[in-house]
Amino acid sequence: MSPSKWFLAILCCLIPCSAYAITDNQVHKLAEKGTVALTFDDGPTEEYTPKILAILKKYNIKATFFMVGNNAKNHPDMVKRVLAEGHAVNSHSLSHPMLTKVSDNQLHHEVEDPQVIIYKIIGQKPNCLRYPFGASNQHVRDVIRANGIVPLAMGFNSFDYDRPGVDKIVSWVLKNAHSGQVILMHDGFNKREQTVAALPLIIEGIKKKGLGFSQICVVAG
Ligand SMILES: [Zn+2]
Repeated sequence: MSPSKWFLAILCCLIPCSAYAITDNQVHKLAEKGTVALTFDDGPTEEYTPKILAILKKYNIKATFFMVGNNAKNHPDMVKRVLAEGHAVNSHSLSHPMLTKVSDNQLHHEVEDPQVIIYKIIGQKPNCLRYPFGASNQHVRDVIRANGIVPLAMGFNSFDYDRPGVDKIVSWVLKNAHSGQVILMHDGFNKREQTVAALPLIIEGIKKKGLGFSQICVVAG
């Protein structure tokens, strides 16, 4: 057996590979009918993730978080808390580059390392990797899939990261909200006060439209 296969064999003993290989048709990539999926990228952070978790708890909504591996490593208690409160923990790469612009060596680290980091914290590997900036190509998606992870696009962009004002974020999201939609917001990397302030209004507005909430990247039942 070659050294790399030995390495893989040992790694698979530590983290059973086959048990964590997820394929595209095993997970929901869209919200369930009659619902939207609230998703939060770029965290976790000490400052904003707890505020978003408190709002989700108040409304009893389970969301989906796409974490940057380095942020997960720096805030392991927050990763545990997100999972403990019933939310889905997924990957948003290791360091948030454009995966289409990095070397093959870095691409492998960006895909594989967050899986190991998050597994070490919560004992579960992410099912999906949402590629940063919505940037992917066939090679990037092939590498993600080769690691037993489902590649995911960004979903409906709330543009909360532009910080256009709470009212603008809310009206943009509510104008466009519809059954099955995946809504992208952010709990990391920058000032997210507007996201935090907009979230309860978005939730109230979506409920008024008669829509519920569901998670993505969970294994389909
Ligand atoms: Zn991002």
